[in-house]
Amino acid sequence: MSAGRFDRQIRFAPLGAAGQERLARARVLVVGCGALGGALAQSMARSGLGFVRIVDRDVVEESNLPRQVLFEPTDIGQPKAQVAARALERIGGPTRVEPHVRHLDAELLRELGTDVELILDGTDNLATRYLINDFAVERGRPWVYGGVVGSSGIVFPVVPQSGACLRCLFPDPPPPGALATCDSAGVLQPAVAAIAALQAGAALRLLGAEPGTLVGRASRLVELDVWTLESHAIEVPRDPQCPCCGQRSFAFLDADTTGDALSLCGRNTVQVRPQRSARARVDLASLHARLAGLALDLALQDGLLRFRLEGITCSVFPDGRALFEGTEDPVRARALYDRWLGS
Ligand SMILES: [Zn+2]
Repeated sequence: MSAGRFDRQIRFAPLGAAGQERLARARVLVVGCGALGGALAQSMARSGLGFVRIVDRDVVEESNLPRQVLFEPTDIGQPKAQVAARALERIGGPTRVEPHVRHLDAELLRELGTDVELILDGTDNLATRYLINDFAVERGRPWVYGGVVGSSGIVFPVVPQSGACLRCLFPDPPPPGALATCDSAGVLQPAVAAIAALQAGAALRLLGAEPGTLVGRASRLVELDVWTLESHAIEVPRDPQCPCCGQRSFAFLDADTTGDALSLCGRNTVQVRPQRSARARVDLASLHARLAGLALDLALQDGLLRFRLEGITCSVFPDGRALFEGTEDPVRARALYDRWLGS
């Protein structure tokens, strides 16, 4: 590697030549390769990390192009992870990039997350974040939460053993449909860029700083809004009663996720159920309100919410189960479920 390439990083005293060498040996997993994940993968590769593994189940769509920095119009319809790996190779540098076009469940996380030092959250759904949190705490491995909706977002680095975890902050995920998603509330590119930058900065410090200098730091959550220019940070205390890092119960990692997206034979329909550990009653009225103006033929009747979107007819039941008519692809249905219902 040319020493000149990373000259400006080496001149940054908290990193220095030793820190750059640590980065050159570092291995990370980036989960999701859309808006946040693409920016994160690019930042890690440009910073000269040794190894970046990317996992994403989606293909590039036209509506991704305003925010997803690694994709161009000619990439539409191709798997995001593979397109991203090719884009990162064009940047050059010493980083080895390994793409995986797959849906991340507990089994795959164990496979892809074991030989990395840090996990970066570029997902669009809470179910996967709770899964990553369980895995990271179980293995004592840091991960960096990032979430964006509209013009604002949150960053929360989780360093097991020394700080709080996601479940210290939010012990249980909200029921599917309870929170706004980028599909219902929209999202601005600068919000994505800002949150990805803070996540990447936290990752570089965790991977590149001199060992021992980060011990004892309080867990900090940062929220910022690129529209109002408001930001604030809170210290998150570790909860000794936390089911995950306190009691070491890993319900999301242990959950049997097989069968939660099931193709119904011969009907061109897939049934998706919320992950077992996240099951709760869904507030169909608030989901109805959020989908208004987005979905077609939206109707809430007899305890069933139905709508059409992207060529799919979706029916949501109060227990969180949903049918997707118009596809036989369980991975696509699972992805639409996470996007539309915000599981
Ligand atoms: Zn915890």
